Amino acid sequence: MHRSIAFDGAARTVTGSRHLLSIGGHKVLIDCGLFQGPREIRERNWEPFPFNVDEIEMLLLTHAHTDHVGLLPRLVKQGFNKPVYATSGTIGLANVALPDGGRLQEEDARYHNRHQTTRHEPALPLFTENDAYDALKLMKPVHYHQPLKLPGGATARYLPAGHILGASHIEVTLEDGEIVVFSGDVGRYDRPILKDPSDIFTADYLVVESTYGDLQHSKEDTERKLADLINEASRNKSVILVPSFAIGRTQELLWYIHLLIEGNKIPRIPIYVDSPMANATTLLYTNHTEDHDTEMRISLAKGESPLNPELVRLVQDRNMSKALNLADGPMMIIAGSGMVNGGRIVHHLKQRLGDPSTVVLFTGYQAEGTRGRDMIEGAESVNILGDEVPVRARIEKLNSLSAHADSEELMRWMSHLNSAPKRVFLVHGDYEVQKEFRLKIIERYGWEVDIPAPGDVFEF
Ligand SMILES: [Zn+2]
Repeated sequence: MHRSIAFDGAARTVTGSRHLLSIGGHKVLIDCGLFQGPREIRERNWEPFPFNVDEIEMLLLTHAHTDHVGLLPRLVKQGFNKPVYATSGTIGLANVALPDGGRLQEEDARYHNRHQTTRHEPALPLFTENDAYDALKLMKPVHYHQPLKLPGGATARYLPAGHILGASHIEVTLEDGEIVVFSGDVGRYDRPILKDPSDIFTADYLVVESTYGDLQHSKEDTERKLADLINEASRNKSVILVPSFAIGRTQELLWYIHLLIEGNKIPRIPIYVDSPMANATTLLYTNHTEDHDTEMRISLAKGESPLNPELVRLVQDRNMSKALNLADGPMMIIAGSGMVNGGRIVHHLKQRLGDPSTVVLFTGYQAEGTRGRDMIEGAESVNILGDEVPVRARIEKLNSLSAHADSEELMRWMSHLNSAPKRVFLVHGDYEVQKEFRLKIIERYGWEVDIPAPGDVFEF
């Protein structure tokens, strides 16, 4: 039977994950992610899909990050109406994130039309909030480890990937017993809340992400650094502003704050999570027990609320968020977005960035072109909502929080295979990084490794 994998998206780039698996005459899509980053990458979102939408019989989602699911509403808008299989954690997160993505698209289009800053006349949203709801209606939950029937006599299993809530590796077993594994995004080992990435023992063909194929995460002691900063803020009666990602990062921070409170390592200062999306996500992280690791299970069994520690207050409405502007320290405010390109953190920064007693604590990677990047690179001022605001606050960074496996963790994930795969494909990485990572795999394991270019089709 003729089989192939077409590498449509996340080929020699980190976003736009999309792989088309053909089994006989049947077509199954794995992920349908948004292209993000510089304009020439983002423009690919507007290109026609390189396949006939009607031919796709189902979509398998590895997880709910935008670069894996964000183009689904557009696919649906173009007529796709087949089932979308995902874990219930992924569906929960998609319910929170996709409509929000649609709303932002609509707001952006309105903004560009009002200010006539568009090359398209008129500017259109890539998809709307309603398109997002249409996409959500197609989603069907799958359980981890349970076989799911695919067309062409194949089956798929979703295995925990330790990356974000619901994130999975997808293992496809073909009719003749050959196995294709799609890593999705590989998470971290020994991190709080979620299980470790699953050990994969057999794969004939391995499609693996390579985001951090060239680096190792910092071994910094997160708990210690947070404790020091909170103690200092308490002494100085100052404010710590934490630009944080709603999915994953905020929950890990809450976990560490919980540990610090339980261990009496920080004074009782108010900690606000000022983000409805982060708060909705935290509830999902608490409720989806199937994703929890042992530590998290034990904590919940003891009756603790590790993701809702007692000092933490959840801010939902805008007025309460604005009221925080007038409040004095000490306190900590956690708000999105993580790279300061939007969200409520922008207002807090406008208010407090000029104050030398403020500490701004970044929680992760800051992409080129974001205010966050400018700030960690030492900008003297940043433009916020039309005003040039001087950066007098102290800029700090937590280096150890990341949801992605680093180079050694990816090697560890692959090390469980009992025998060499016939072929390994590196996806979801910058090409320069991938070339380096490819050599590393060849050197250590001696496997055959390809870096498919966009549009490449591998037949087997
Ligand atoms: Zn991801």
